[in-house]
Amino acid sequence: MTKKTLPFTKSFVEKITKKYPTPFHIYDEKGIRETAGKFYKAFDWVEGGGFKNYFAVKALPNPYILKILKEEGMGADCSSLPELILADKTGIKGENIMFTSNNTPAVEFKKAMELGAIINLDDISHIPFLEKAAGIPEIICFRYNPGPLRKSGVNTIIGKPEEAKYGLTKSQLFEAYKIMRDKGVKRFGLHTMVVSNELDINALAETAAMLFDLVVEISKELGIRFEFVNLGGGIGIAYKPDQKAVDLEELSKRIKKLYEEKIIKNNLHPLRVIYECGRMVTGPYGYLITTVIHEKHTYKDYIGVDACMANLMRPALYGAYHHITVLGKENKPKTHIYDVTGSLCENNDKFAIDRKLPKIDIGDIIVIHDTGAHGFAMGFNYNGKLRSAELLLKPDGKVEMIRRAETIDDYFATLKKMR
Ligand SMILES: *Cc1c(COP(=O)(O)O)cnc(C)c1O
Repeated sequence: MTKKTLPFTKSFVEKITKKYPTPFHIYDEKGIRETAGKFYKAFDWVEGGGFKNYFAVKALPNPYILKILKEEGMGADCSSLPELILADKTGIKGENIMFTSNNTPAVEFKKAMELGAIINLDDISHIPFLEKAAGIPEIICFRYNPGPLRKSGVNTIIGKPEEAKYGLTKSQLFEAYKIMRDKGVKRFGLHTMVVSNELDINALAETAAMLFDLVVEISKELGIRFEFVNLGGGIGIAYKPDQKAVDLEELSKRIKKLYEEKIIKNNLHPLRVIYECGRMVTGPYGYLITTVIHEKHTYKDYIGVDACMANLMRPALYGAYHHITVLGKENKPKTHIYDVTGSLCENNDKFAIDRKLPKIDIGDIIVIHDTGAHGFAMGFNYNGKLRSAELLLKPDGKVEMIRRAETIDDYFATLKKMR
């Protein structure tokens, strides 16, 4: 059981809201740094240049966060032109950028090559496409989709591999490395991403086993040497209070054992082990702070807040659970059942449905937990809703605004000028 604690008090938040009106996301730098540190320490056995997590930029695309992660030794996993530019501007350079895209436009391959990023191809047909667009790089990675070969340890968010649009089939993979080998490429990586928000260590370890086996098979058949396996992202977080975060030490131990059994035994070491986790790194350290502006009692009891699904889409998008704390009422009994709603003209604009909470009053400040990944990032302007500010809570307790809230002018900025 993970207790849902907060890195700030009610009076601290009240002080912040005087300067920065709600809603806003606030990120806890200390928590992010501690998790990054734990991740790296767990995998400090990795040989051949060491462990690296390429932070999946899509989870929290703010350069001030990326800068913190860079200082913690992370690279950036990008999948679009703006994400590539964001990484580069943050000072994450060259092979510290992984370009894991799909259905990729030529200009994006060009930019990735220009930056010296590691290119992770999603399809065999992208070899001639890349060659024409940008040339053949010195190091290449392919994304493996095991399809029906992967029977267990696949969860529902990402779906069944055989129904996913990503990656190459096993036979295509052999063909693809052969083509690249024959084009003179000497440095290789292998990637997959088959789980999402996965808390089960067995499923996470199975991905490593699958890739290690494949490295053995491909190396033997084609006589090529792999430099790294990229186990993808997908390490889950404890959104619900009764869930437990993944024990990274335990996961690492399991992967190390597989590494010894499969990679070292076959004399294919050193092989770098790489992740591209986003959610696990920043997810638990983001909080959406919002104020209660209405309560409504009809067929159900509704609490209306000043945030909406434009600020956090996950509950509406996949019925995701986000824990809610009513500031100052942490120890009050949960006597009421509420739907907590935003103001979009969409009935699924709800942060919680039938949630047991203490009695809520207008003016209460509500904290929505675990918004540090795919929170602000999934924002949109539907219904004329504006994106909120992003604040950073620094280890010394100071708060810095790292992105201002959108204004009406921003909303009109892309329109043809009106007279
Ligand atoms: C989204 C994504 C990730 C990160 O996933 P998390 O759940 O944030 O760890 C990594 N790699 C790829 C290819 C992705 O699409």
